[in-house]
Amino acid sequence: MIQKSPVMRKCISCRTTFDRNNLLKITNDHKLGIMLNQGIGRSAYICKSKKCYTDSKLKKKLQKALKGILNPEFIDIFEREIANYK
Ligand SMILES: [Zn+2]
Repeated sequence: MIQKSPVMRKCISCRTTFDRNNLLKITNDHKLGIMLNQGIGRSAYICKSKKCYTDSKLKKKLQKALKGILNPEFIDIFEREIANYK
C-alpha cells in the first residue's frame, strides 16, 4: 500500500504549517482575479482558526502575499465561507 503524505502549507496569519486540506486556499488567478478554493496562480493559505480568519490585517496580508487586490466579490464569498466556522 502506498501511504499518501499530506501536502503541508503555511497559514499566512499564524505561520503555522497545516495539512493543506485543513486550510482555506486563496488564489490570485491570472485571468479571473483573487478566488477562494479555486483558480490557478499565486496562492496563499489561511487556517480555519477564528484568530486567523478574523485577523484584522488579513486582507492586507493576503493582498501582499497574492500581489493583487481583493475585490468585493471575493470578500463577500470569503465572509460567507468563514461564517460556516463560527
Ligand atoms: Zn493560522
